[in-house]
Amino acid sequence: MAPHKQRLTILGSTGSVGVSTLDVVARHRDKFEVVTLTARSRTDVLFRQCLEFKPRMAVVLESAAASELQRQVSQAGLNCEVRCGVEALEEAASLPGVDTVMAAIVGIAGLRPTLAAARAGKKVLLANKESLVTAGAVLMDAVRVSGATLLPIDSEHNAIFQALPRGYAAPGASGVRRILLTASGGPFRSATPRQLEQVTPDEACAHPNWAMGRKISVDSATMMNKGLEVIEAHWLFDASPDCIEVVIHPESVVHSLVEYIDGSVMAQLGNPDMRTPIAFALGFPERIAAGVEYLDLARVGALHFERPDTQRFPCLRLAYEALAAGGTAPTVLNAANEVAVAQFLAGALGFQQIPALIEAVLSEIPSRPVSSLGDVLAADGIARECAGDWLRRARPRRQAAAS
Ligand code: NDP
Ligand code: MG
Repeated sequence: MAPHKQRLTILGSTGSVGVSTLDVVARHRDKFEVVTLTARSRTDVLFRQCLEFKPRMAVVLESAAASELQRQVSQAGLNCEVRCGVEALEEAASLPGVDTVMAAIVGIAGLRPTLAAARAGKKVLLANKESLVTAGAVLMDAVRVSGATLLPIDSEHNAIFQALPRGYAAPGASGVRRILLTASGGPFRSATPRQLEQVTPDEACAHPNWAMGRKISVDSATMMNKGLEVIEAHWLFDASPDCIEVVIHPESVVHSLVEYIDGSVMAQLGNPDMRTPIAFALGFPERIAAGVEYLDLARVGALHFERPDTQRFPCLRLAYEALAAGGTAPTVLNAANEVAVAQFLAGALGFQQIPALIEAVLSEIPSRPVSSLGDVLAADGIARECAGDWLRRARPRRQAAAS
């Protein structure tokens, strides 16, 4: 009998993580079968993936995109059901015939499908950090109740997972003292405050070490990405904020570290290539080849570490504050950040105004307890409205300053 193949749903298959996932899958056709692929609207990319991986179902967000994809799929004679909408994404994530779900949608848009996969007890490969940031308590609870397996894809958390004695262990347990999250510092690590004022979207998206989607690239440039990752580490590893330290490491070779009470520090190293954490999680608990270039330490030569500067990069401080406030504060932080980044990418907001908007929204909305998805979505909505108000107030000031 042929060995059972792992059956996969890839949420956000057309994005940077989704494409890297399919790259690894294509190297191991004997081990994996793609059941469902999903995207928001880029039907051209999704259709090409359907031709190559022959999924049984393809889901897009809107009906116009679904009609276009349906036309292409029918013309090519593919046996692939085309669906649309958030409910269809949730269904794709919880299909009984699916073993593993790669959660690689960007933003809080990924929350409902990711939660559906967790509730259905799947092996969940979590790239979509925003779902843990916004709904950590709800998602972790769903994992516990259903017995789902949650494996981090974010390279830092994947590194920590590998450096911990047996996956998840809270600092304090197993002699763990601290988690050290590395951060490249992004493209503006050495920029002056004046230079930061002038940053354009394309400059912000030109990350020195990683090729990623535009939203996470801007998050890396503001260091909000590291802030979101601190909150993500809190939920994944049950770590209090004072046990999570951020260290700037410009080479992105040491992906993160775990410090033990006896002074030992365990790190995971590798070339910066998302296919390593993706292959680790796809193959878990076995190791499979990822197609990456192996690390040549002599060629790397030197590795550098420094402390982060929260004066120039206030987003990191804001994320720590939101985590300390708890409840809906991280949801509010995330919503304000999503609005700010979208505005920045559209050329409607300055780079330095991203933290200003987030700080204003956080200070206006008191944190409330979270006990359900409804609490999270309500807080997200209120924060987006508040961010909209801030933008309406700020715009005339910006226009006056420009003229
Ligand atoms: P991309 O922007 O490259 O891709 C996002 C994917 O999600 C695309 O498939 C996109 O479809 C889809 N999508 C976007 N919005 C929606 C929506 N509203 N509903 C349904 N689908 C949607 O992002 P990345 O791959 O860079 O990042 C994905 C996630 O992984 C993020 O949470 C990010 O923080 C995390 N991550 C990414 C890393 C990286 O190296 N890129 C590293 C670590 C974490 P379409 O193409 O049609 O727009
Ligand atoms: Mg990361």
